[in-house]
Amino acid sequence: MRIAIQKSGRLSDESMKLIRECGIKVNNGKGKLKSSSTNFPLEILFLRDDDIPGYIEDNVADIGIVGLNLVKEKKRKVDVILKLGFSKCRLSLAIPKDKQYEGLRFFEGKNIATSYPNIIAEYLTSNGITADLHEISGSVEIAPGIGLADAICDIVSSGSTLLTNGLREVETILESEAVLIGHKDLEKPKKQLLDALMFRIHAVQNGRNNKYILLNAPNDKINEIISILPGMKSPTVVPLAMEGWSSLHSVINEDQFWEVIDNLKNAGAEGILVVPIEKMIL
Ligand code: ATP
Ligand code: MG
Repeated sequence: MRIAIQKSGRLSDESMKLIRECGIKVNNGKGKLKSSSTNFPLEILFLRDDDIPGYIEDNVADIGIVGLNLVKEKKRKVDVILKLGFSKCRLSLAIPKDKQYEGLRFFEGKNIATSYPNIIAEYLTSNGITADLHEISGSVEIAPGIGLADAICDIVSSGSTLLTNGLREVETILESEAVLIGHKDLEKPKKQLLDALMFRIHAVQNGRNNKYILLNAPNDKINEIISILPGMKSPTVVPLAMEGWSSLHSVINEDQFWEVIDNLKNAGAEGILVVPIEKMIL
């Protein structure tokens, strides 16, 4: 099976990291365009992200990792299999910050610079707005400043690039993140490999979202502490060498941990340890 990932850019490191955390060994020497895993039947192609959806539609690669924004823009026939939770960003409309904005009507008859003409065209049409689109492939943010356009439609994450270019975000068109995409009709053996890979990805994702928690408490406080912990089934309780004390082990969602930490301490928990989980199979 072949997976296509971005050669160098904002998706590259996290894509490789995910593959490695799935226990798939790859040596990707610098400048390599193709690499095989030594312990999983997977070949990795390193490509420009723009080419990935097309390669998958045309059967050159079977699966790939790209931003959802790119999938929507390219309009290639591929399946979005799974959201991967990294490279989160949004596609937004922005205008010079000194311009007044009272709604989408602003864009009627205006020039909009963008690298995402398909997405923005659909969005404007469905909202009954007609505008002129100027497709440019990079540095879209400077277009209004140099008189090329009245507004832009571009990827935003923190918004700092907009700010330094004197722009203000006024509409969000699409929320995006990295996604696993695949060919529409994978042959059965490849489908089985994909299932095996998905199993591993889920184990990695569950591990990332959860923590292993260990704490000590007097035996008469253990039940109260268990009732506070929103854990996985029943926690493990083991006696400590110190008479009348136990150690309690459980798995807890990272976000929930911060919500219950004060309650745990008030209930008598001591020596609380929170440990990362590498893989978690539910
Ligand atoms: P390539 O050379 O492969 O064509 P590129 O310049 O088109 O690369 P990148 O800038 O590396 O692409 O962005 C790849 C993807 O990362 C984008 O399609 C988007 O999904 C996501 N992305 C872009 N900018 C950000 C950002 N500021 N924060 C988070 N994710 C982003
Ligand atoms: Mg690109």
